[in-house]
Amino acid sequence: MAREINEECGVFGIYCQNHVAVAPLTYLGLFALQHRGQESSGMAVTDGRQIMLYKGTDLVPKVFSEEKLKQLKGYAAIGHVRYSTTGSNLPENAQPLVVDSSFGQVALAHNGNLTNSVELRGELTRSGAVFNTSTDTELIVNLLAQQGGDLETALVKTAQQLAGAFALVVLTRKRLIGVRDPLGFRPLVLGARPDGYLLASESCALTNLGAEVLREIQPGEMVIIDQDGVKFHKYAERQRESFCVFEYVYFARPDSNLLGQSVHQVRKRIGATLWKEAPVEADVVIAAPDSGTPAAMGFAEASGLPFEIGLLKNRYIGRTFIEPSQQLRELGVRIKLNPIGAVIRNKRIVIIDDSIVRGTTSAKIVRLLRETGAKEVHMYAASPPYLYPCFYGIDTSQGTDLVAAKYNIEEIKRLIGADTLRYLSLEGLVEAVGIQKERLCLACFTGDYPLPIRGVTSKHCFEQNGSANE
Ligand code: AMP
Ligand code: SF4
Repeated sequence: MAREINEECGVFGIYCQNHVAVAPLTYLGLFALQHRGQESSGMAVTDGRQIMLYKGTDLVPKVFSEEKLKQLKGYAAIGHVRYSTTGSNLPENAQPLVVDSSFGQVALAHNGNLTNSVELRGELTRSGAVFNTSTDTELIVNLLAQQGGDLETALVKTAQQLAGAFALVVLTRKRLIGVRDPLGFRPLVLGARPDGYLLASESCALTNLGAEVLREIQPGEMVIIDQDGVKFHKYAERQRESFCVFEYVYFARPDSNLLGQSVHQVRKRIGATLWKEAPVEADVVIAAPDSGTPAAMGFAEASGLPFEIGLLKNRYIGRTFIEPSQQLRELGVRIKLNPIGAVIRNKRIVIIDDSIVRGTTSAKIVRLLRETGAKEVHMYAASPPYLYPCFYGIDTSQGTDLVAAKYNIEEIKRLIGADTLRYLSLEGLVEAVGIQKERLCLACFTGDYPLPIRGVTSKHCFEQNGSANE
């Protein structure tokens, strides 16, 4: 179940030869990626003569009116939805960013986090660059604007100076370009429609638009789309791949495929593995909605226990929702999550959530189930203990908030008030994902960071007090 603050970013790009309505298509693409970021939304559209930019700090349907979409006429566009992993949620930090360069106007949108942004900002400032935002994306734009030569060479030179996680979509007046970092932390996928090509963080944004999924952009690869068609350019040799395993656990939508694996199926396999690893006597399996649902279904299927909807989530709560006051909360107002008494009362419940990060969500859910009359509450996390902060674009870089870094499993169980607390094993996760371990980033579970972070070189920097891995 999603916490109140939310995830990272989503990027989208489209290039259509025959002047179709790219702005409404970008709107729909971004709408399909809204789960990846709710703080700001934006798009840049080119009509071949100029790039037009429109963005705001709100959800996609709130930022773009029908009128605005009609004004954004062009044949290629990029778009972005954002959760602020770097820089706060200020209007100027919304993306795409547009700069004037020797190649003309360039718009750029970024998913991920750079790990050498401090050095880059220092170097760029010394060479006279002025920054208008507090995002690391502006560093990329500035680096790009400083390069000479043709755009492709400039992009390669820029990408080679970046360290960390970046999936980029870049728009010039005549071209759409996608770039993925050499370790491939964040996804980027190419699709086609009869009238053109699309790029998106997740395949759900392509299939939502009736597009065919062609293939994922490879780590260290760039794709250039223009009137001559599609060209791929490998700009970095692959040393190792480090695809973020948390995309499977939580971020991606279940109707997306990542590295050829259906996210929904992976989550179902995770559920089945959880049952295999830790069977339990219970009456019913329920999910923390909605992110725990596929794993709960897999658990139920493997165990033969019935799967039920035990908690109902109101889907229509946006950022503008007014939080109930303390007084209303004390009256038991449960606007966001309401239990179904008939499913829960007098039952031994297995409740499955995709992950436990700070532990506050699990504590709330267990309390709610008990108040509703559950006989027993067995809490299952469909991922291993989240022990180490992420520096590659996921919002957990406050290591001190991570409950599993502070307490062992027995202590967490007591804190959240469950009868049982079980986590998936690391081996179980890798097996369920179905991708070789060497191709995945597992750092938030293992502490083995595939790329060094400034001031953080090993997991020992975050060594936990207890042994949450036991
Ligand atoms: P908590 O343990 O209270 O931090 O919340 C864990 C819940 O938040 C899980 O149900 C996940 O669905 C969700 N979640 C996990 N990681 C994130 C994240 N980076 N941003 C927002 N929600 C997350
Ligand atoms: Fe993903 Fe975790 Fe690696 Fe961050 S540390 S990229 S969340 S697997």
